[in-house]
Amino acid sequence: MTRAIVLTHGGVGSDPDLKDGCELAARVGLKLMMEGAGALEAVVAAACALEDDGRFNAGSGSSLRLDGKTIEMDAAVMDSSGRLGAVAAIEGVKNPILVAREVIDTPHVLLCGQGAREFARKRGFKEFSWVSPRAKARYEEIKVAISRGDLPGWKDFDLKGNWNFQVQYSEVFPSDTIGAVAIDPKGNLAVANSTGGASPMLKGRVGDSCLIGCGFYAGPSGAVATTGIGEEIIKRTLAKLVYDRIAGGMPVPEACQDLLTIFPKDIPIGIIAISSRYEYGVAANREMAWAVLEG
Ligand code: ASP
Repeated sequence: MTRAIVLTHGGVGSDPDLKDGCELAARVGLKLMMEGAGALEAVVAAACALEDDGRFNAGSGSSLRLDGKTIEMDAAVMDSSGRLGAVAAIEGVKNPILVAREVIDTPHVLLCGQGAREFARKRGFKEFSWVSPRAKARYEEIKVAISRGDLPGWKDFDLKGNWNFQVQYSEVFPSDTIGAVAIDPKGNLAVANSTGGASPMLKGRVGDSCLIGCGFYAGPSGAVATTGIGEEIIKRTLAKLVYDRIAGGMPVPEACQDLLTIFPKDIPIGIIAISSRYEYGVAANREMAWAVLEG
């Protein structure tokens, strides 16, 4: 009989060949639960492994903002008992998911920007700045796509007029995230999310990944993580919609698949979910690396 499950993803649009990174992360989480840890610790450890992988858009692999210098990350963790911690637009830390975990032990649920960074320092997280080769390459691609007008939503946007970086606009001119859901042998459920955002991004932009009910949700019936264009996910409160379907008794694969259809096809979206019935589901309208392990 299945006692525990960890399901991980590497972001909608991620190369399925990166499955090994998702598997490693799931293994880290499952091992912890087999040793007695709960689902919350398991998803945090799994998300941490994915942040450290460097091939995903989270932690060490996070995308650059439009100035080619700034990295701002969002992360969140929640479990079925209602423990919730999140950080938004945090800079200068290696593992935003660990800072999100620390937020659980405060009276707040979400810290952002400079305050989140200073909180991390107080909690002993060292300054970290690293731009991965992946992020540099992605940045070059994005600059080209923007100048060609290839990006829906950015085509008619006055980027120059809205530029909010220190580096000058004239000096500059060229999506995937990670997530984990788990259930432990006691039936506790948890979700963890972490992202460098969805390029292209202005400074200060916050996506769905750290917003409850949008990029993630966990409750007694299940745990859900979503990936894709954050603005579209936020407008539809996607994670809560999936959760409510699961809570209403819909099979998990069907709930994930069903909610994909509320998005136009040109919006990349991915969903992973797990239920208190020890069922899991994965749905994406693009390629997506993911892995599941049961113990
Ligand atoms: N949802 C993330 C964001 O919009 C990006 C992603 O999932 O790839 O920040």
